[in-house]
Amino acid sequence: MKIGCPTEIKPQEYRVGLTPEAVREATARGHEVLVQAGAGTGSGFPDQDYAAAGARILPDAAAVFAEAGMIVKVKEPQAAERAMLRRGQVLFTYLHLAPDPDQTHGLLASGATAIAYETVTDARGGLPLLAPMSEVAGRLAPQVGAWTLQKANGGSGVLLGGVPGVRPANVMVIGGGVVGTAAARVAVGMGANVTVLDRSVPRLSYLDDVFMGRLTTQYATQGAIAELLPDVDMVIGAVLVPGAAAPKLVTRAQLALMKPGSVLVDVAIDQGGCFETSRPTTHQNPVYEVDGIMHYCVANMPGAVARTSTRALGNATLPFVLALADKGWRQALRDDPNLLAGLAVHEGVLASAPVAEAQGRGW
Ligand code: NAD
Repeated sequence: MKIGCPTEIKPQEYRVGLTPEAVREATARGHEVLVQAGAGTGSGFPDQDYAAAGARILPDAAAVFAEAGMIVKVKEPQAAERAMLRRGQVLFTYLHLAPDPDQTHGLLASGATAIAYETVTDARGGLPLLAPMSEVAGRLAPQVGAWTLQKANGGSGVLLGGVPGVRPANVMVIGGGVVGTAAARVAVGMGANVTVLDRSVPRLSYLDDVFMGRLTTQYATQGAIAELLPDVDMVIGAVLVPGAAAPKLVTRAQLALMKPGSVLVDVAIDQGGCFETSRPTTHQNPVYEVDGIMHYCVANMPGAVARTSTRALGNATLPFVLALADKGWRQALRDDPNLLAGLAVHEGVLASAPVAEAQGRGW
């Protein structure tokens, strides 16, 4: 199959759909890979690396879309990209269609077969193509929070790990899933005093087991959060209620309970945010202050570490890319119900019940 990898054109997106390593795997199996010139630049992969791995470098996206049987990307196709998709072509990328009727309409009109990374499942019911980005965002959260705590960046001037004779910072992580666990791991590693709150007792038991006393777990009631707020230096918001907006777990009034210059890192901002005062920010201008409390609310945190994120995403997508290329989409979906769970649009037909429901379309 001819596999195409265009340059991402969404603003501030530095990741790329295929790494040179993935290209090497695909070409070794007899597939042809077409990479747009410069596609890997944002992730630190020059065209020469792709060429050395066996890719053919094409000058623009139009050439890639025109020739490829399957397009592998990162972000949902923008209008200019949707216009280049065609019947018989497979698109494999993050789509996030539910809140996006324009994109849904464009994909239906294109006639292409679109498979969404975010709904591909695994044998345990997890979301293997979302998890790597949650790992990245979670590990990044204490790092950006620690930077924000520095005095010159508006913070209270507390060092996360303290020093001998000076207590470390107190970090509260709300939500102990993939993001929260990764955040807790890094915060513990930086020497902070970490408390993880969750509504799932089995999840708290798991964290208690794996961290072996290096953090505290607490059931996430409103009272528990309010009680901890006066003592914390950093709160990391990492909750997810599948299919729903994030619940607001810290109100504006509660900011007054916190020490001035303390930091809120709202990783759940892509689901609306879990603090009342959160609003999405960008990597250019990531932090703002409300009532003396610093807020970091970047909605696409993995973009800050595009090289790591591209590799992490590529590791997770590669088996599916190869299955689609080796077998063709029809057989690959027949053979693998987890990949089939990703099917969103096929030749003008919406194949996702949740998207249809979210957009009030018939099903
Ligand atoms: P996850 O499903 O693995 O974990 C979510 C956890 O939240 C679960 O353990 C759940 O029990 C817990 N939870 C739900 N409601 C709660 C409540 N009221 N109080 C306390 N805990 C509660 O999800 P995840 O992969 O860790 O993702 C967490 C959030 O991070 C999601 O909103 C996701 O979209 C977001 N995210 C953002 C970025 C970014 O760049 N900003 C990147 C990746 C993920």
